[in-house]
Amino acid sequence: MDIKIECKNCEEYRLVDVNGIIKSMHDSIDNNSIYAGFLCKKCADELFDED
Ligand SMILES: [Zn+2]
Repeated sequence: MDIKIECKNCEEYRLVDVNGIIKSMHDSIDNNSIYAGFLCKKCADELFDED
């Protein structure tokens, strides 16, 4: 099941699998971290490259 969601970084709409979003929310719970919102693959790759 796909959902249209806006990337919080580039503000472009992407079609994303709902299960993927739920999984990342679960990861946040597991790591006791904050789910900051959706990043598209491109923006996520760029952000993680900076670390
Ligand atoms: Zn993006």
